[in-house]
Amino acid sequence: MTNKQHIIDRFISYVKIDTQSDPNSNSTPSTKKQWDLANKLVDELKAIGMQEVTIDEHAYVMATLPANVPHTVPVIGFVSHFDTTPDFSGTNVNPQIIEDYDGKDIVLNEEKDIVLSSEYFEDLQQYKGQTIITTDGTTLLGADDKAGITEIMTAMEYLIDNPEIPHGKIRVCFTPDEEIGRGAHKFDVEKFGAEWAYTMDGSQIGELEYENFNAAQAVVRIEGKSVHPGYAKDRMINSMYIAQDFINSLPRLETPEHTEDRQGFFHLSSIKGDVEETVLEYIIRDHDRTHFEARKKMMKDLGNDICAQYERDCVQIEIKDQYFNMREKVEPVMYIVDLAQEAMEAVDVKPIIKPIRGGTDGAQLSFMGLPCPNIFAGGHNFHGKYEYVPVESMQKAAEVIMKLAELTAKKYE
Ligand SMILES: [Zn+2]
Repeated sequence: MTNKQHIIDRFISYVKIDTQSDPNSNSTPSTKKQWDLANKLVDELKAIGMQEVTIDEHAYVMATLPANVPHTVPVIGFVSHFDTTPDFSGTNVNPQIIEDYDGKDIVLNEEKDIVLSSEYFEDLQQYKGQTIITTDGTTLLGADDKAGITEIMTAMEYLIDNPEIPHGKIRVCFTPDEEIGRGAHKFDVEKFGAEWAYTMDGSQIGELEYENFNAAQAVVRIEGKSVHPGYAKDRMINSMYIAQDFINSLPRLETPEHTEDRQGFFHLSSIKGDVEETVLEYIIRDHDRTHFEARKKMMKDLGNDICAQYERDCVQIEIKDQYFNMREKVEPVMYIVDLAQEAMEAVDVKPIIKPIRGGTDGAQLSFMGLPCPNIFAGGHNFHGKYEYVPVESMQKAAEVIMKLAELTAKKYE
């Protein structure tokens, strides 16, 4: 059994280091401060006895736990990210530890009257009696994804200290910039050398995910014609009215606020306009690749229709694919999901398998040749001041990692 206090200390030592990433920077890592934690992780990997510990010029940290069985076992990997979201402050994180949680509201900050309500955040109820780590109400916590790093590090240390547990070669990688969608961009899949891997980056205990959205963004540029309003009859073309037609012609109920599970959507995220020009920004999401392509086509057709109606080339649409559903890459090797499920059940964690309504680094990695489902890291309410993580969930995640290593070794005996 992993030591609880050891996990708490380790986790806190990570979240106290500010590692916020920045979408406006073009370098990797996007912020210099991410090196602070990356370098610390290198030292720690070496200290616990990991082999082949490396850090490259983009701060990707990799390490190896050598096999301790004589037979051939596929190399498996575990991945998590050390940056935190640019959406909320990660400076001076001051974690609060609530032992033997009583199921009631948790006051995060008395002075500012910030309360983690157990009624509003009803997931809290399932952690009665456990040890919960929260923020002090002024920052995020960073359990996303420093819980994942804690779990991988703890599992590796435990496997090194308990060599009677059989396992093949294990590779681990800690990446920068996941929160700005670039965690996989500079990931050297060949150097990593694993046959498949798992990101430890899901939310509540039990989560196991191998399906995510297909994603694209669209910029719709609508051109009008500005003329003095007093003398505009039959001459002015107001781009904002054309934009209105465009918006209203897309299915109004296929939007984020009206969809769930496997339903896709068009999301209008920004409008900027005047008479002369209006720019609409959309994101398009769908789990089903055929529906996804149909959505993109629907948007383009609509643009063409409006151009035809106004008899001028007034709608310009630029659509860029962002990422694809990893399901098509994972399904041919479905045993890697089955193994994760089996590992969870073996340590009394009930698997919760559901499609992600977003993306993961694992999706990008899967398309780069490293099939990579996502496993829970244990935290809740990511990207804000209400973020929290039960220590027991981190312990279970570490156990799942160890069990996966063991089951893989046994499968190939
Ligand atoms: Zn994350």
